[in-house]
Amino acid sequence: MTDLKTTGQQLGRRSWAEPWKIKMVEPLFMSTPEQRRAAMEAAGYNTFLLKSEDVYIDLLTDSGTSAMSDRQWAGMMLGDEAYAGSRNFYRLEAAIQQYYGYKYIVPTHQGRGAENLISQAAIKRGQYVPGNMYFTTTRLHQELAGGIFVDVIIDEAHDSTHPHPFKGNVDLDKVQALIDRVGAANIAYISLAGTVNMAGGQPVSMANVRALRALCDQHGIRIYLDATRMVENAFFIQEREEGYADKPIAAILKEFCAYTDGAWMSAKKDNLVNIGGWLALNHEDVFEAARNMVVVYEGLHTYGGMAGRDMEALAIGIEECVEDQHIRSRIGQVRYLGELIEQWGIPIVQPIGGHAIFLDARAFYPHLAQIDFPAQTLAAELYLDGGVRAMERGIVSAGRDPETGDHRYPKLELTRLTIPRRVYTQSHMDVVAESVKAVYDRRAETRGLTMTYEPQYLRFFQCRFAPK
Ligand SMILES: *Cc1c(COP(=O)(O)O)cnc(C)c1O
Repeated sequence: MTDLKTTGQQLGRRSWAEPWKIKMVEPLFMSTPEQRRAAMEAAGYNTFLLKSEDVYIDLLTDSGTSAMSDRQWAGMMLGDEAYAGSRNFYRLEAAIQQYYGYKYIVPTHQGRGAENLISQAAIKRGQYVPGNMYFTTTRLHQELAGGIFVDVIIDEAHDSTHPHPFKGNVDLDKVQALIDRVGAANIAYISLAGTVNMAGGQPVSMANVRALRALCDQHGIRIYLDATRMVENAFFIQEREEGYADKPIAAILKEFCAYTDGAWMSAKKDNLVNIGGWLALNHEDVFEAARNMVVVYEGLHTYGGMAGRDMEALAIGIEECVEDQHIRSRIGQVRYLGELIEQWGIPIVQPIGGHAIFLDARAFYPHLAQIDFPAQTLAAELYLDGGVRAMERGIVSAGRDPETGDHRYPKLELTRLTIPRRVYTQSHMDVVAESVKAVYDRRAETRGLTMTYEPQYLRFFQCRFAPK
């Protein structure tokens, strides 16, 4: 086996290390194979149903799993827990205005709270919502508001091996074709995500959003941004797009947002907090509608479901997440894991994205049909091998077509290893890579799963399976 510790040198580059040190530790439970088998059976082979206590390295999601800094924890003590007009809200509002550049801010308890508000405020029943690939909660809120989602991402995004540097880009011809077919008045807005989670954490280029803005201006269509991982997107622009190598991440972020009319945010991702979200808007009409609805669904418009201390930690998290050295090390760690897995010839989505390594479960298990749930199977196998928790992003996550009731069969059948921010060390990444290798080595013996229980909404969270 390759000597993992010398990988940096083997790849011909200098090693890097995390720009933080550890002040407090949380001991982890080291389980036996028998304990893991029992836990997996009890969880119906769905990693969402495992107890966190039974997990060694938890790569289920980077959502709300970040480690806060000492500054953020200090900020927690500055919570102004007033029902109305908390000081922390105004500090949060100022941070979003400064770093993302939008005018009006509505706080929400997390990203889907903001998705509900923007969907209800900006979609009329029967309108189309073109987007650069879907996201689970985003599309569901758009559909619940009566919208019809249309995928307008470039074709390369659906090809897991295509090396396109900006696989999150919108295909402007697809947008134009939709405008020609249904008319601009029947398009609610463009739902633009940076980076695109379901495509493997792939970025959108500045040139693409600029061109999209020009097209939308011709037709009076607004663009709303899913800004959840937009800071990671800014890193890829700095790294790959001509003219941006010397621009700070903060400047790139602000320029990108300026081409859009508003954004929703799951602050549990880029913004380095464990809970929180926001909606930001430049137009007063949508803002007024959203600010009125927030009191129905979330809480008063100066807290939106967050405690004052949460808003303070969030404001500080926004400042920290746009620091160049933070984002370089965050994406560097993801890349470190990806390069280890890649060197063994194990199929992963290319190029390596911003927040996760996506194992290509179809190529991993070529003998399994998609209805055998290969990505779900791979997630279960990883847990059984070493207590590493991953997530399915394939046929289970795609759900059923609301019209026909059939499974949707997405092109991408992926198992996601998602890296929490500032939580694990490179040694943890070594252990994860070796576990993937062990599961790969016995792939020929692996059978698929059958679904034994299926809930109505967002089934991947709660459905259950049994081995074939
Ligand atoms: C997590 C996420 C959301 C939803 O946010 P929550 O905070 O989980 O409600 C929306 N869009 C993207 C891209 C996400 O990753």
